[in-house]
Amino acid sequence: MAEKCKTIRRAATAVAILPQDKHRPPLFDIKALKKRIGSRWLDVHEALAPSLTDALRNPGEHVPCPVQGGDDGFRFFDDVEVTGGGICNTCGPRSDGIALLQLSPAS
Ligand SMILES: [Zn+2]
Repeated sequence: MAEKCKTIRRAATAVAILPQDKHRPPLFDIKALKKRIGSRWLDVHEALAPSLTDALRNPGEHVPCPVQGGDDGFRFFDDVEVTGGGICNTCGPRSDGIALLQLSPAS
């Protein structure tokens, strides 16, 4: 469980430190980052969050939570391509891809 959490935090850090294109705004600006990602959140999750593989392979379906496991507590939002968000019955909603990548287990 802690290893999965660590993976997601590492993924979020990777998003923040991607090499910058001199023609684009700094990636540490979250609004700019979201704009740059646009409607490619599934690609971002696939590249940076292996723990979301079940959800990526079963769009619209309930799958095990990437943090807590279980049977079917997690699903992406219907507009995940644009928002990157999802919801877990236990962990709660993550409104966008940044929040989902930062998902950490309840204490
Ligand atoms: Zn969860």
